[in-house]
Amino acid sequence: MKIGVPKETVTGEKRVASTPDIVKKLVIKGFSVLVARGAGEAAHFTDDEYQAAGATLVDTAEAFAADIVLKVRKPSLEEISMMIDGAVLIGFIEICEDDGTLKALFDKNIRAMALERVPRISRAQSMDALSSQSNIAGYRAVIEAANQFGRFFPLMMTSAGSAKPARVVVLGVGVAGLQAIATAKRLGAEVYAYDVRPETREQILSLGAKPIDLDIGESGAGEGGYAKELSDEAKARQQQLLADELCKAHILITTALIPCRPAPVLVTEDVVKRMREGSVIVDLAAETGGNCPLTEKHQVVNKHGVILVGHTNYPSRMPSDASAFFAKNIANLLDIMVTSQEGKLVLNDFETDEITQSALVRPEA
Ligand code: NAD
Repeated sequence: MKIGVPKETVTGEKRVASTPDIVKKLVIKGFSVLVARGAGEAAHFTDDEYQAAGATLVDTAEAFAADIVLKVRKPSLEEISMMIDGAVLIGFIEICEDDGTLKALFDKNIRAMALERVPRISRAQSMDALSSQSNIAGYRAVIEAANQFGRFFPLMMTSAGSAKPARVVVLGVGVAGLQAIATAKRLGAEVYAYDVRPETREQILSLGAKPIDLDIGESGAGEGGYAKELSDEAKARQQQLLADELCKAHILITTALIPCRPAPVLVTEDVVKRMREGSVIVDLAAETGGNCPLTEKHQVVNKHGVILVGHTNYPSRMPSDASAFFAKNIANLLDIMVTSQEGKLVLNDFETDEITQSALVRPEA
């Protein structure tokens, strides 16, 4: 059974869907792995390393002409046209924003396993690429903030004077938010955090941060542990109650997302105006509109003396580790997708396992 690993082509995407370490394991399992030349270059994995791991180096068309194609980002229509009818695709399919990709996949009977659809259950944790990548995003968000901030994060007492610890506020305490809290704490900041899901309070405390408690009149807990969109009254109340807390922050890391919906506005222009000169907002929701309306996607801008960081693909800023985690997630998913029968690898029925059943993209999606 052939596995193809093409080079990612989305602008700025440095990750690769498999690494030499994982290729080695796949080859031992009996797969024949075809890696496009230069596929891992941007993530610092060389062609020689893939070859030493047992991969065959191929051109783009051959990497797509495999039984199973591994991708980080959804393939373009041109890339789909290079795939074999009935092949399997594994990667982020980004099904919220369809632009004809799904139709092109279904027209070729390609079975797409969308990693963002792997259920958030214990058994699937090792395959949860949303979490592995969000974790990196949360870490990197704090590093980007520290890079832009003209002051220390920790308390500093030196013979040349002392500096107070930075006050960091994290909004949205999912996987990225939790890692942002942990990273800011490690850097010595005073950390506060808020999420609309009440169960996050305990998690914030367990990391040594302080929860911001707001009474907005309703819970934002939705299905499957995700947040739901708040009513207009609750949104307004939330913005109003948060404002005073946010103005005190030196650093705001905002990670509030609602699946397939625009990001909620948590930081208004009025709050930005009231923040201290030189404060930094890292808006991890920049891709879906931003938690602050002043955020400019892909840009770092200064508005009212506050630096707003609007990068979008944080995992790609750490492409080596992001690719390593991503590749491992896929290898774990492959373990439940493929079985060895009499020395031959065969694809399992995707309907018989809760995880593959949920990840498989269907025409009605
Ligand atoms: P996400 O990226 O979808 O959203 C980030 C955070 O923003 C969430 O915590 C959400 O509650 C918060 N948010 C949304 N609207 C908000 C608002 N108006 N104000 C403040 N905060 C707001 O989240 P995620 O990291 O993908 O995690 C989603 C859920 O999945 C969480 O419950 C998480 O614990 C759970 N999870 C479970 C597992 C597992 O059990 N295997 C693994 C990972 C995540």
